[in-house]
Amino acid sequence: MSFESLGLAPALLRALADNGYATPTPIQAEGIPLVLAGHDVLGGAQTGTGKTAAFGLPLLQRLAEGNKPAAGPRKPRALILVPTRELAVQVADSIRSYSKYLRLNVTTIFGGAGMGPQVDNLRRGVDILVATPGRLIDHMQQGTAKLDAIEILVLDEADRMLDMGFLPAMKRILARVPSERQTLLFSATFESQIKQLALEFMRDPKQVQVAAQNAIAATIQHRAHPVDGSRKRDLLIDILTRRHSEQVLIFGKTKHGCNRLAEQLETAGLPAVAIHGNKSQAARQKALNAFKSGKARILVATDVAARGLDIPNLPLVINHDLPMVAEDYVHRIGRTGRNGMTGEALSLVSPDEAQLLRQIQRLLKADITLEAIEGYEPSRPIRLDGNAPGAARPGGQRPGGNRTPRKPGHRAHGKPADRGAHAHAHTGQKQGQGRGQGQGKPSGRRDSRA
Ligand code: AMP
Repeated sequence: MSFESLGLAPALLRALADNGYATPTPIQAEGIPLVLAGHDVLGGAQTGTGKTAAFGLPLLQRLAEGNKPAAGPRKPRALILVPTRELAVQVADSIRSYSKYLRLNVTTIFGGAGMGPQVDNLRRGVDILVATPGRLIDHMQQGTAKLDAIEILVLDEADRMLDMGFLPAMKRILARVPSERQTLLFSATFESQIKQLALEFMRDPKQVQVAAQNAIAATIQHRAHPVDGSRKRDLLIDILTRRHSEQVLIFGKTKHGCNRLAEQLETAGLPAVAIHGNKSQAARQKALNAFKSGKARILVATDVAARGLDIPNLPLVINHDLPMVAEDYVHRIGRTGRNGMTGEALSLVSPDEAQLLRQIQRLLKADITLEAIEGYEPSRPIRLDGNAPGAARPGGQRPGGNRTPRKPGHRAHGKPADRGAHAHAHTGQKQGQGRGQGQGKPSGRRDSRA
């Protein structure tokens, strides 16, 4: 499979070669021909699958081939709606790099930045507008953004836009875009609201799904360390100190918590940068660049700020706090285990978060190894589903009793047999549905405590 065979124009092929893209990803191989043929497309894909190029390349080609707009400042012909400013910047950067041999320009519009420069850019003429819904509404109200020439509309990370409460804004925007248009919707999940949006605003959409709903890489190991909330920071520092060579993305619950955590890590001699919604766009981009270039080893982020960030494949993601909703766990750890590489997701789980952990376990349908770390055992036990009652003990979580809790930072490298044995000996919480792992069968699950 090559990009040529998908029917892309030479100007785009040259740009792809410059970008070092040799072969299309699955969502690109399936999606590009459909978009080129003018279909509406409903894409099930999350960040890291190459979805931006899957819609960006054929979008550019259709604009380049389409009727040339009348003279004078150009009105946008394509609108890409995204949930966050980071994603807006990232999508615009990608589209610019794909369009470097085409005469099309790209402008971003997002909140948290001055209106003035955005208005100037819009006045100068735009072909492709990448916008967050709230700020676009501001521009529509001021009359600075005109949407009556839109030919292609993309809703990127539609599920996230809904999560962030953008549905009313999206509907207002959709009402102002010509009904004669091509609509592309990308979403990691397809809950009923997304289906409703598609029914209402798309025409006979073709579905492209690159992974099962909520699927996550089978190469990721999930591990949860039970620990009291008050000791999480110390445990984290312990783990990070022992695993000093790996780049790691750490998720925290609140903006304030992330800042404080980054400061505490710094104080402990672990330089870290934080990224969250309260920071200015420039500060967030600076932190992200430091992390991407490898200058910063540790990035602390909130869910919203990290959403859609183009973070390279990481060996390790740590949840200092579990996310508020189980689905966000999937988004968080989408940053590890990409492209068949191994990845590890560690969660520090306080007894108060046990219920959330069980919800995550049910959603994942994958193994989570629950493992107390010596010296950090929680005051109340935590259990996963499938644990025999009373299996986990205060202060140890260890039914077998003849092995001591693990030292922090010790990595159980992924032989499936190890993992199975491990789960049996420790807590037995293997749920037996790990993708392709073929171990942890329910029938053999309880023998360690029988
Ligand atoms: P996305 O899912 O659109 O955020 O893309 C994830 C990352 O994959 C980005 O860094 C892209 O530049 C990169 N990428 C997308 N398509 C390809 C491809 N066909 N070959 C290599 N890298 C790609």
